[in-house]
Amino acid sequence: MDLAKKHLDAAWKLFDRACGHLKGRAIDDVQIELYDLAFSLAELVASQVMIDYAERPAEDTEHALKRAVAESFVAETVASLHSRLRLRPRAYGFTTDGLDNNYLELTDVALDPKRLAELGQLFRDRDGRLPIDHLDDESTLMRSSFRQFAQEQVVPLAEQIHREDLLVPDSIIEGVRELGCFGLSVPERYGGLKPDGEENSLGMVVVTEELSRASLGAAGSLITRPEIMARAILEGGTDEQKQRWLPGVARGDPLVAISVTEPGTGSDVASVSLRATPTKDGWLLNGGKTWCTFGGKAGAILVLARSEPEAKPPHRGLSLFVVEKPEFDGQSFEFESPGGGRVSGQAIATLGYRGMHSFEMFYDDFFVPQENLVGGESGRGKGFYFTMRGFSGGRLQTAARASGLMQASFEAGISYAEQRHVFQRAVADYPLTLQKIGRMGSTITAVRQFSYVVAGLMDRDKGQMEASLVKLFACRAAEWITREGLQIHGGLGDAEETPVSRYFVDARVLSIFEGAEETLALRVVGKSLLEDGYEMFES
Ligand SMILES: Cc1cc2nc3c(=O)[nH]c(=O)nc-3n(C[C@H](O)[C@H](O)[C@H](O)COP(=O)(O)OP(=O)(O)OC[C@H]3O[C@@H](n4cnc5c(N)ncnc54)[C@H](O)[C@@H]3O)c2cc1C
Repeated sequence: MDLAKKHLDAAWKLFDRACGHLKGRAIDDVQIELYDLAFSLAELVASQVMIDYAERPAEDTEHALKRAVAESFVAETVASLHSRLRLRPRAYGFTTDGLDNNYLELTDVALDPKRLAELGQLFRDRDGRLPIDHLDDESTLMRSSFRQFAQEQVVPLAEQIHREDLLVPDSIIEGVRELGCFGLSVPERYGGLKPDGEENSLGMVVVTEELSRASLGAAGSLITRPEIMARAILEGGTDEQKQRWLPGVARGDPLVAISVTEPGTGSDVASVSLRATPTKDGWLLNGGKTWCTFGGKAGAILVLARSEPEAKPPHRGLSLFVVEKPEFDGQSFEFESPGGGRVSGQAIATLGYRGMHSFEMFYDDFFVPQENLVGGESGRGKGFYFTMRGFSGGRLQTAARASGLMQASFEAGISYAEQRHVFQRAVADYPLTLQKIGRMGSTITAVRQFSYVVAGLMDRDKGQMEASLVKLFACRAAEWITREGLQIHGGLGDAEETPVSRYFVDARVLSIFEGAEETLALRVVGKSLLEDGYEMFES
């Protein structure tokens, strides 16, 4: 571990130097450099988390595995930082011969082929079970209840939902309701599971991981929308609105959806243009929205609209509304507001992430009563802030979704590699496969531990930057790991009948929603690096 620590420290220094060189520049002038640095920062922070994790006491076998995982992960991080800087040293303020090769003393040992194959063998021997997670008793209990539910109620239906593009069946929604899942982000005083005055992001992460292991679309993403809606209403809603909506969100009745994205704008939330025009008792909504996931089934949709067209800067002209409507099970719907006007929706056919349907929607003079304006009169023009508050937990949750999905693909890959023989040997016997297994296992462990640490930070009202970092890192890793899980299956991996093909297509959307990769890397992480650099948090 000493070698890993030494070279991780040196990597941090290089990173800081590169950031220092860019400081003060305009984001768009150094996009390419910032994008790479954002990913390196995510890996560096994950590596730091892994060093701490490896040092926590555990019984011998677990301890040895944790150390091996941490060393290989840190070595990959250091090598990857070097390779990014070496692509264009002068852009980061180094001379073309100014980067030394000392780090090779780490990679040469920690990424030695024999050692990586041994690491893979360790994971193989335990059927892909990740090293000890160091969760407390309460979270461990949550994990086992949700694992059992997901295994018994979701896994048997997941393939059919995906292949036939079905809506999540009521049996799953009912089960999630009974387990209290929709109320994970709602305080107890409003009927939820979150202790009053406390946060429990770790519980949300663990539950999300377990549901996503079974299915990203049909289970793992069910609690994302209630989480966003609860946070936004807690932030901006009047007391009356909290009393009115939060107990329902917690019960999962009504089911809810979030509608921010429009055909003309997604990443640039401040440019939302769906019009909200005041009338005598409320507002008329006019315009298009898109990608409103669960928009058909939801009985309440949180809609971001432009209520103050003249406001400058434009994000101060947005307000948040709760649109109430009946539940629709199909792929299209139309509804007339009791107060006048209509809203229609049409599901968009997608590559993966099926089960909730994401809708293109159109509002035509759709009436929303004044009491559904979040925050009432004083909430006018504050919708952007309430929405951002709502999204604050979504990034961490998306990392947890990625983590569950990766675990499913990893375990399926190991299991198949064990059974399948090529050239008279099990696929899992070959060093190349073992190396894949070792790297996959290390990366998933890092994502998981990183997400637990960010959960702890968020519960202390910190960790916004780290939530973006873990999301960036986890979602990119999920694309690679689900690819490897599929690849190990050879041709069968490409067949729809194997869940690994579903994991692969499901993983693709993770880097797009809840903050697209580029937006997070440039406008959140990159912006902060240019202004203040990065200071590692105290764990
Ligand atoms: C399956 C699915 C479900 C979704 N569910 C919901 C939902 O429930 N509610 C909701 O409101 N939205 C939802 N979304 C929408 C999602 O949040 C948006 O797709 C996302 O914010 C990106 O917006 P966009 O698609 O308009 O892409 P754009 O903003 O048009 O971006 C296009 C590309 O440009 C990149 N880019 C952005 N800024 C920069 C820059 N400065 N420099 C260089 N490149 C840049 C982006 O990262 C992206 O790669 C969903 C999307 C999908 C695919």
